[in-house]
Amino acid sequence: MSWSLSIGRIAGTDIRLHITFILFLAWIFGANWAAGGASQAWDGLAFMVLLFACVVAHEFGHIFAARFFGIATPDVTLLPIGGLARLERISEEPREEFAIAIAGPLVNVAIALILVLFFGARPDLGALTTIDSTKVAMVDRLAMVNLFLVLFNLIPAFPMDGGRVLRALLATRLGYARATEIAAVIGQGFAFALGFIGLFSNIMLIFIAIFVYLAASSEAHFVAIRSMAHGVPVSAAMMTQYATLTPDADVEQAVELLLRTSQGEFPVIDDAGRPVGLLGRADIVRALKERGPNARVADAMTTAIPTIGNRYHLEDAFRMLQEKATPAVAVIDAAGRLVGLITPETVGEMMMLREALPKGASFGPWGPIVRT
Ligand SMILES: [Zn+2]
Repeated sequence: MSWSLSIGRIAGTDIRLHITFILFLAWIFGANWAAGGASQAWDGLAFMVLLFACVVAHEFGHIFAARFFGIATPDVTLLPIGGLARLERISEEPREEFAIAIAGPLVNVAIALILVLFFGARPDLGALTTIDSTKVAMVDRLAMVNLFLVLFNLIPAFPMDGGRVLRALLATRLGYARATEIAAVIGQGFAFALGFIGLFSNIMLIFIAIFVYLAASSEAHFVAIRSMAHGVPVSAAMMTQYATLTPDADVEQAVELLLRTSQGEFPVIDDAGRPVGLLGRADIVRALKERGPNARVADAMTTAIPTIGNRYHLEDAFRMLQEKATPAVAVIDAAGRLVGLITPETVGEMMMLREALPKGASFGPWGPIVRT
């Protein structure tokens, strides 16, 4: 579920529009139509298309900088507050992250300079509130909007470029995970301030604030888990004591297991011990309602259970949990037999235990905790 749609490719990077960007365009068009009729609405839309081009140019600033450091860039998503170029990996090298983050706003600085030097634009930041007014010349408005993009993107909050610049600067002294934590807290502070200002001025600000807040939390959470899971084999973290079901068992047996164990999801394995599906609490309830207690497990289960080899790293299992939005990842041995499960709860428990350890203590396969 990505809430965005693809509109084409440039230099091998997929361009996607986020639903909120489309709503934003519609809102601009509608507001202009209401204020000044059709001609103003089309003028407003033309301006938005040019603005859109500037946002794309901004994103390609990031994209080309990332490629310079050998990072692939599969797609870019456009949001009302700018764009998000997805990088295959985020550089944990502060100097690289800094360069990639700053490259976007620098493109807008360059565009504004070109508009001023060669097209006689006279941007007036004080007139930002009239940015969609057709009384102001198009070049002036474009120069203004580029400066606005620079300022807005440099707000020190994830997912804005300023958040990454801030993290890169902090990471040169504090280490990546700690720098992310601090940058996320600062970003959430900004989100609160933004939302508060939005209450008294512009409702769009409140939406942006919510978005920024959520992005900051998920970035911090993600980096914390990744730094913990880094280099840990899946077999060291997986759950190995759990009840299983066979495809031929009936739902009544599943109900008994559900009551007798604390499990909410049961892996379904065939005669050879290979995972063929997953039966969750919701599946059991649905099967009981629709088919009664004698329904077969095979007919009630979800067959799309992601599997991972036991020699892989926890990082990979965690990524699968996230990307596939699945309640569990099945860990299999070389013969394809189920040997363990990784669930969000296991990952959560590991985080909790690690947090509880005293500084410098080591625990299981995880090296000593370095809190900087
Ligand atoms: Zn950017």
